[in-house]
Amino acid sequence: MPQKPGQCVAPGLSPRPRKRHNRIMDDSLPLPTGHWPEMQPGWVWLCGAGPGDPGLLTLHALNALRQADVVIYDALVQEAILDWAPQAEHIYAGKRGGKPSAKQRDISLRLVDLARAGKRVLRLKGGDPFVFGRGGEEAQTLVQHSVPIRIIPGISAGIGGLAYAGIPVTHRDVNQSVTFVTGHDQSGETPSSLDWASIAKGSQVIVIYMGMKHVERISGALMDAGRPASEPCAVVCSATTGTQQVLETTLGTMAEDIAQSGMEPPAILCVGRSVLMRQVLDWQGMMAGEAPRNTDPLGRGLPAESA
Ligand code: SAH
Repeated sequence: MPQKPGQCVAPGLSPRPRKRHNRIMDDSLPLPTGHWPEMQPGWVWLCGAGPGDPGLLTLHALNALRQADVVIYDALVQEAILDWAPQAEHIYAGKRGGKPSAKQRDISLRLVDLARAGKRVLRLKGGDPFVFGRGGEEAQTLVQHSVPIRIIPGISAGIGGLAYAGIPVTHRDVNQSVTFVTGHDQSGETPSSLDWASIAKGSQVIVIYMGMKHVERISGALMDAGRPASEPCAVVCSATTGTQQVLETTLGTMAEDIAQSGMEPPAILCVGRSVLMRQVLDWQGMMAGEAPRNTDPLGRGLPAESA
């Protein structure tokens, strides 16, 4: 096949023929052809909305937004996403922090009532519904009340939020495992069931959700268990939104630096050397014209692709 000027084809790969289309998404674009599931009256779909940027929704989420009669959404769902469901009633079911249990039950029962009233119900939750989102509890209540469900996963803040900060949650030279931890439990305290010493010893990279309130205790526990005070850490607030903020710090100074910065939840804390990769992968900074700070932040001395 003849190559157009500027077109580069790696050996063994041939370009796929392209249909002409608008390069940038607009509202008139239909979903790509495929067998998109139909929302039936009386069903509840529990759906992840991703960490914030509406572009991080899945196509299944978009398909659901277009069909729903009711959307019940959480505090962390960006309201712009609801613009894709203009036909639906929008119900805010936000709750932040501390004491959710009574209210959580109310939300679950509300879902049951709406389904029984014959509505197509979309329960939209930030990130992924099954990652620290109580989606499992809501789904269980629905099944216990014989309400049919469908689950639509979403991009979790602990992965997608870090990616927007230029931090790969795994990186071959740094970690072969990653631990996702919640910084507080149902009572609002640091989870008593968590063995911070084992986490500190067993996981090269630790990603902490809901960690802002107890950051001092968490970082202290990790250092008590042997993690160095100099270990790189990042705090990513309101990741993937227009107000995203990123703080690079160390385990020893993280609590103080957060207090000084005035950063507020929602935030993801990341502890581990993968944070150093931001020096070369801060793609948002690069888009704004900044040069990469260090193209070999792990000091590997080899091209990144060499084995
Ligand atoms: N189900 C969600 C997590 C819900 S718990 C998910 O998969 O992402 C709520 C916590 O998630 C917040 O306290 C914060 O730690 C994190 N979080 C969610 N959205 C975030 C965002 N846009 N930026 C940073 N942290 C976020």
